[in-house]
Amino acid sequence: MENTNEMQLIFDSRSSNESFARVTVAAFMTSLNPTVEEVSDVKTAVSEAVTNAIIHGYENEVHDIFIRCRTLERSLYIEIEDKGKGIEDVEAAMEPLFTTKPDLDRSGMGFSFMEAFMDELKVESEPGKGTVVRMKKIIGKGRKLWTVQSL
Ligand code: ATP
Ligand code: MG
Repeated sequence: MENTNEMQLIFDSRSSNESFARVTVAAFMTSLNPTVEEVSDVKTAVSEAVTNAIIHGYENEVHDIFIRCRTLERSLYIEIEDKGKGIEDVEAAMEPLFTTKPDLDRSGMGFSFMEAFMDELKVESEPGKGTVVRMKKIIGKGRKLWTVQSL
């Protein structure tokens, strides 16, 4: 299809790769001609999801993190997956301020940020199997679209 593009990344769950992941997704989305703010929103959401995979999913052991990205028309779809310990109660985990690691300076706001900065957030998780975070962002929502009628 013409208006679609895809990429996949597999990288080690090291905290040093968190910036690599967010910059790579930011580079991928440039074809959608995003604003600085839209890029910054996506980078924040990717950072939060990747940090969660590193800290909670793999508890700082080094394993693979998978990112799949797709653009379709004006939308950017991102999936971030770990095959780590998973989440017992996804609904509870997504509540603002919920954290299972208060001792480590976590504020429990990661999922709330992802929700706030993206247009869609879905989390699928199975204890012992891992977690997939699916997000969508519509790029250029405030901008006027040129259509055949407007020419
Ligand atoms: P913050 O993101 O503010 O530093 P946090 O990571 O605890 O704190 P969230 O990102 O909202 O907060 O995540 C809430 C909780 O969901 C986590 O404390 C953890 O228990 C669980 N969680 C999130 N992502 C994963 C994951 N990939 N694997 C396992 N558990 C996860
Ligand atoms: Mg978090």
